[in-house]
Amino acid sequence: MKAAVFQGPGQPLMIKDVATPAIADNEMLVKVRRCGICGTDIHASREGPFMAPVDTVFGHEFIGDVVEVGSGVPAGIFVPGDRVTSLPFIGEKVIGLGDITGAYSEYVKVGHELVLKVPDALDDNRGALIEPLAVGLHSVKMAEGIAEKDVLIIGAGPIGLACAIWSRFFGARSVVLSEMSPTRMDMARTLGFTQFVDPAGDVGEQFNALTQAAPAVQIECVGAPGILQACIERAPARGVIMGIGVCDHPDEIVPLTAFLKELRIQWAVGYDKDDFQFAIDMMVAGRVDASAMITDVVSLDQVPAAFEALRSPSNQCKVLIDLTR
Ligand SMILES: [Zn+2]
Repeated sequence: MKAAVFQGPGQPLMIKDVATPAIADNEMLVKVRRCGICGTDIHASREGPFMAPVDTVFGHEFIGDVVEVGSGVPAGIFVPGDRVTSLPFIGEKVIGLGDITGAYSEYVKVGHELVLKVPDALDDNRGALIEPLAVGLHSVKMAEGIAEKDVLIIGAGPIGLACAIWSRFFGARSVVLSEMSPTRMDMARTLGFTQFVDPAGDVGEQFNALTQAAPAVQIECVGAPGILQACIERAPARGVIMGIGVCDHPDEIVPLTAFLKELRIQWAVGYDKDDFQFAIDMMVAGRVDASAMITDVVSLDQVPAAFEALRSPSNQCKVLIDLTR
């Protein structure tokens, strides 16, 4: 099958012929319809502690059709033709970040315990947004109580926007985004968010001017050194700081400031199957729609160029690969 294959840091992905995944008894083969290109994939293609092995096929945000069901999959749940998504795991192994061939390809294998059917009411594009929405949902749930709070979201990329969507959903009093890119701000406006602060200025002051409050919950979706301490300084007493952005550099904080305010700093990563199901249900019910995040849909052949373009700031938000083209 055709796949976009990681060649090593500093090199573009290459379209190659690779082996179609062979499924074990408790696995299923899925013909991919759409797969999202994720910041995590870009991150894993760079030199550093998170770099994926050479020959990795990325792609963990996918939707597709079951084409083969292993003999050990409990009968009657999945049949060929079912349109499904899956959490990107089979047991302990990760799909699309090195262990198991991901969905920048024609076929991907999945287990069955973490696989969910996607109702007809969701089109393929929306189906590819289940995973990033589940990331935001899990993060907002981990904040433990967003209702009636004034929320600051730092970074309006796909994950920041997903956190904004769920903060609004769960009843935040205000959802303010810290972002300097005009195109990302426009994207946020399309999704109904109107309050912004400029990270180059005094964020706490701007937030206060908008909400007459300090940010009781701050969701950090950038992951650069220094941001955590800035969050600590502007937090009100007993504020919550959520670490969602991946920072793989040492970062300095002054614990005393956090101590005196009794702050809670909570990291969050990933999601569970309930998060996927809830994201699906709310999209089907029309209560959550993130489709405006999709700024481009490319063919598999266009992936190497699209992936390289996403390395530098661009007008793109969520780019999907259409494997049916
Ligand atoms: Zn992702």
